[in-house]
Amino acid sequence: AKSSGRNSYQIFSASMNSNSVVRKSDERALERALEHDEFILHYQPTVHLESGAITGAEVLLRWERSGQGLNFPAQFITIAESSGLILPIGEWVLREACRQARAWLQCGLGLGRIAVNVSAAEFSDRRFLSKVRAILEETGLDPRYLQIEMGEDSLSRNPPHTLPALQELKNLGVRIAVDNFGTGRASLSFLREFPIDTVKIDKSFVHNIEAKSGKAVATALLAMAWGFNHQIVAEGIETQTQHAFFKKHHCAEGQGYYLGRPMTTEAFAALATQRNPS
Ligand code: C2E
Ligand code: CA
Ligand code: CA
Repeated sequence: AKSSGRNSYQIFSASMNSNSVVRKSDERALERALEHDEFILHYQPTVHLESGAITGAEVLLRWERSGQGLNFPAQFITIAESSGLILPIGEWVLREACRQARAWLQCGLGLGRIAVNVSAAEFSDRRFLSKVRAILEETGLDPRYLQIEMGEDSLSRNPPHTLPALQELKNLGVRIAVDNFGTGRASLSFLREFPIDTVKIDKSFVHNIEAKSGKAVATALLAMAWGFNHQIVAEGIETQTQHAFFKKHHCAEGQGYYLGRPMTTEAFAALATQRNPS
């Protein structure tokens, strides 16, 4: 028993080492990606369900990794968060998104808003607010076009810090959205007391509406969001049935492959020009 105990310890420690070696090399790859400008942004439209008009774009980070093609956030965000690299990466995303939004608005594109995802690690960073303020000034984007999206769990992690931080964001004139609504652990009182503009109903609830209980849950989430006076976006709409359901239940906005996939800057500009004639 003793020797097998030692063996398993050795195996464990060997795999720990190789894990940390992998992690270190992933971190270095991410650092290089920043230096070499390998990150790009894709834009996914949010759509007014009744009229089909585009209400804005959500910015989604992509990594054009040399030799590997397009990498998605699931492949690198966790490493970015644990290494702290999410701070410079997030700052790049915010600056690039605001710069692009300002450019679009200046050439008359009817862009309602630009939504940027922010991790808990970014939001809890001391310098977050001053970064947002500086980037808005630097790019000249009117703050009311910017929406910051945060998961329920990032919002409810440290309420004594979160509430004043959200209020300062609101004072800047920025919009705040709760991402993946319904999946986190935010208490209802946070959802009521925090200065939230929009909730995004998580795609798992959207996909479930084909089941009877799923319909009840989706309508309950809609009712709750209305009760709190928040705007609502149904996320992950993939089918005509899901689209019809949320439209019928007076959910104002939707997002999902059925309404428009995440796309390049050029493709989004073309779509918005065609869909929102000025
Ligand atoms: P999210 O904020 O919930 O973004 C929506 C995700 O759902 C995106 O995945 C989008 O491509 C995907 N999606 C859109 N429509 C549909 C649909 O109809 N069906 C399905 N199944 N999926 C759909 P993506 O781009 O892989 O991003 C994953 C997550 O990574 C995002 O989830 C967000 O939490 C995070 N993320 C993305 N960009 C950034 C960023 O710039 N900074 C930070 N901190 N996180 C980011
Ligand atoms: Ca989001
Ligand atoms: Ca989401």
